[in-house]
Amino acid sequence: MSAQDLISSLPTDLWLGGAQTPSASGARFSVLNPATGEELTTVADATAADGITALDLAAAAQGEWAATPARERAEILRRAFDLLQARAADFALLMTLEMGKSLAESRGEVNYGGEFLRWFSEEAVRIGGRFTPAPAGNGRILVTKMPVGPVLAITPWNFPLAMGTRKIGPALAAGCTVIVKPAEDTPLTMLLLGQVFADAGLPSGVLSILPASDAAAVTGPLMDDPRLRKVTFTGSTGVGKLLVRNAADRLLRTSMELGGNAPFIVFDDANIDAAVDGAMLAKMRNGGEACTAANRLYVANSVREEFTAKLTARIEALVVGPGDREGTDIGPLINDKQRGTVTALVDDAVAKGARVRTGGTAPDGPGFFYTPTVLDSIPADANLLQDEIFGPVAAIIGFDTEDEAVTAANDTRYGLVAYFYTENLDRALRVSEALDTGMVGVNRGAISDAAAPFGGVKESGFGREGGSEGIEEYLETKYIALQ
Ligand code: ADP
Repeated sequence: MSAQDLISSLPTDLWLGGAQTPSASGARFSVLNPATGEELTTVADATAADGITALDLAAAAQGEWAATPARERAEILRRAFDLLQARAADFALLMTLEMGKSLAESRGEVNYGGEFLRWFSEEAVRIGGRFTPAPAGNGRILVTKMPVGPVLAITPWNFPLAMGTRKIGPALAAGCTVIVKPAEDTPLTMLLLGQVFADAGLPSGVLSILPASDAAAVTGPLMDDPRLRKVTFTGSTGVGKLLVRNAADRLLRTSMELGGNAPFIVFDDANIDAAVDGAMLAKMRNGGEACTAANRLYVANSVREEFTAKLTARIEALVVGPGDREGTDIGPLINDKQRGTVTALVDDAVAKGARVRTGGTAPDGPGFFYTPTVLDSIPADANLLQDEIFGPVAAIIGFDTEDEAVTAANDTRYGLVAYFYTENLDRALRVSEALDTGMVGVNRGAISDAAAPFGGVKESGFGREGGSEGIEEYLETKYIALQ
């Protein structure tokens, strides 16, 4: 399908009650193509009243959905996976149009995002419990799992599909109803997923999707309503803290996937070519717009120049352009604000003494592009050592000893993921244990997998998505004492 045909065929109203519904106010807001800065289309702009309508529907559907046999819930998720695969080309093009990433990366995200539907369709039928005799011999202990209840899922723009499916998949599998508030920059992908779920036979009211230009205006009243039982969020640490504070009033359950500041360490005993491959993935995947992106590349001084030269050559060879143009490796950043953030971080590092090996500028012309960049000789007070870059900028810092590297890697308020390269097994285990993060990539530049628990420690948040852990976020444990 051409981009034009796809855009004109999309659902652009709210998903409420299993159907397309205009917003209560009739308002709409623009969705831009970041490669041109021009409007792609408009979507319905949800109001607080639409949020409450969605919760009315979710609360009404909750009991029946929870009582639906797990096998049936699983089959709906599996059908949604199949329908998503059947429409993979549309989803990929749509993500490229509204988010900017290359088509190859968008296709990758359809696979990755879809996996959460398949994985949790398989997990839905494995929600267990246990039965034990009470040690005192005075009864039996029965432990069972119950769906937590209606869930609010707030998602970011960097993975418009996968950040939704990894919340919707486990929530539906567990028997929860879900209201999704997608990011305002990229609401179209989630709205199209709404169509997939409607086509897969998901009962009306179980899933609502509410794009909104003012997120808090919709989510605030929902979080104040006692019928909502859980909020799951992926986004910035600042907004995550705000949501946890708001959730405290009602002791609402929360899962928080927040910012990262991933170190990527290349030890002197690493396979340098493999480390360069890994760094390309960890740094440049999604144009660097990922909470898992390598933010600080620590390279042993004895191999630093070799690694830096090889990485610079690879990064210089990247083709920057609109994501839907054949041969593009790196698309635009999401918006002008994000480009401003990246520009400010690079300019700050350079002003303090960092050396530009390549890039370091935003090209002229339309769209929110930033030239892939390598910086070395990073001064200790550069802001990019503490703040997420979220752009195609590799910052290289030398080190001498393992202790020095691990200490520097852990010197951040974040703790999502760390990567390192070594050929030494003892070191691999020792350093994995010493890194203060929820996830570690050893000789790997990409770690995400629907079958693995994704999540962070420290100010990267709490809770896990994916793996057998992912469904637990949507389950409550109930203890039944039996005579
Ligand atoms: P980013 O900085 O990457 O855009 P945000 O944390 O601002 O990340 O946004 C992630 C998601 O959180 C988006 O869906 C956004 O609309 C939503 N959001 C932002 N601010 C709030 C808020 N105050 N309350 C609820 N949701 C919010």
